[in-house]
Amino acid sequence: MKDAADLRGLNDVRLSDRPLIICDVDEVALEFVAPFSAYLRSQGLELLPRSFRLTGNVVSLESGRETPAEEIRALLDSFFASQMDWQTPADEVAASLSALHDIANILFLTAMPVRHYDVRRALLDQHDLPFPLVATERAKGPLIAHLHGDRSHPLFFIDDLAPNLHSAKQYAPHATLVHFMANETFRALAPHAGDDVSSASNWREIEDIITGHVAANTANNSA
Ligand SMILES: [Mg+2]
Repeated sequence: MKDAADLRGLNDVRLSDRPLIICDVDEVALEFVAPFSAYLRSQGLELLPRSFRLTGNVVSLESGRETPAEEIRALLDSFFASQMDWQTPADEVAASLSALHDIANILFLTAMPVRHYDVRRALLDQHDLPFPLVATERAKGPLIAHLHGDRSHPLFFIDDLAPNLHSAKQYAPHATLVHFMANETFRALAPHAGDDVSSASNWREIEDIITGHVAANTANNSA
């Protein structure tokens, strides 16, 4: 697999002989729901936390009219184009990833159109999140399996969306999966990701899950 019209950042990935942490960006490394809600308000719209989806829950502040799906897609695209002005890091993410980088490779895997790659790269750099970034709207599981290859080191994948965690499970069944969503309101509405997925409510918990697994794996291998 190589970079293509719908896939960017893969060619630059170099992994050292250590565990691999693959981390989603929106709602995991960067806040998404809160800044997107603020962006919608600037457009005269509101995101209502009625269910775990955008479609059907974006309404006009003035009339209450539901925003059609294709308009939401256009709003998402303009939001991603101006993400520098809106998105901020999740609490503690830079400190946690910096600590985890001592024991593991770290990669960001974002389901975002590749045309917004450069602005997202600049935003992550600005917030001390300098780890390699892969962007694609393709399914995440095959990419995760490809990135890890036949390495025997532990593999971790952190995401806020159950379908992405299930895709990882399907293609990389040995991966340790962590469900995390920075936004507490929508986290409470999120469908349960499954019994084989660890759940975290902040970055320090993610750090503990990963360091615990790595320590257990090291102990097993040296036993
Ligand atoms: Mg996400």
